[in-house]
Amino acid sequence: MFEILPIPAFSDNYIWLLASDGRAAVVDPGDAAPVIAQLEARQLALETILITHHHADHQGGVAELVERWHPPVFGPAAESITGCTNPLSGGEKMTVLDQAVDVLSVGGHTRGHLAYHVPGALFCGDTLFGAGCGRLFEGTPAQMLASLGRLAVLPDDTRVYCAHEYTEVNLRFALAVEPESAALRERVERVRQLRAAGLPSVPSTLGEEKRTNPFLRCAQPAVIAAALARGAVDASLVHVFAAIRGWRNTF
Ligand code: ZN
Ligand code: FE
Repeated sequence: MFEILPIPAFSDNYIWLLASDGRAAVVDPGDAAPVIAQLEARQLALETILITHHHADHQGGVAELVERWHPPVFGPAAESITGCTNPLSGGEKMTVLDQAVDVLSVGGHTRGHLAYHVPGALFCGDTLFGAGCGRLFEGTPAQMLASLGRLAVLPDDTRVYCAHEYTEVNLRFALAVEPESAALRERVERVRQLRAAGLPSVPSTLGEEKRTNPFLRCAQPAVIAAALARGAVDASLVHVFAAIRGWRNTF
């Protein structure tokens, strides 16, 4: 298995660097400069670029990296991706640094959003965050709920490599949804310590997200009750999800 390293970019993005034997891939290089610095420092040749969605903070560095290393660029077929050589729509199987990767269609944040799954690791862009999920810029609550469901069936020990350091504020919201949750209080303390030490709060694991992420817990009585109190029309999954997501937008 390749090594997975975070490259911090902008104010709160993580570009994920996958490295193995002098070879590298990157996920969502929104900025080229910090990626080039890491590739040079580690003497890695960039051979693959994976893009989850079209937002500039996820693909802004592609042109410069392609100019220098000429790697293929994999990204959503439904979106405009700079230099995309291998358009994907989900369901494909591919190989990255000799590892089998499954491509998952997880629209909602954007229409064609993709996630990349290697056994043990999930690169999910702006779909699933630590204790949160992406905003619905182009999709519906039903679409995002289905996408999160596609991620939630992966094994609990799958590490979740999301694209932003949003966990602390997401946890404050999660506690507003489920104030009685002991698992949440424990996670809040653990994340506080990591951030105080200057360390990323990610990756988490899917099991941890299922215990503490309100957007993966829309069938839980406490989450249903909170959603109903915030205007959900009924206790159906999609209405609970929509009410919680709407509440988060103004939290
Ligand atoms: Zn985005
Ligand atoms: Fe983003």
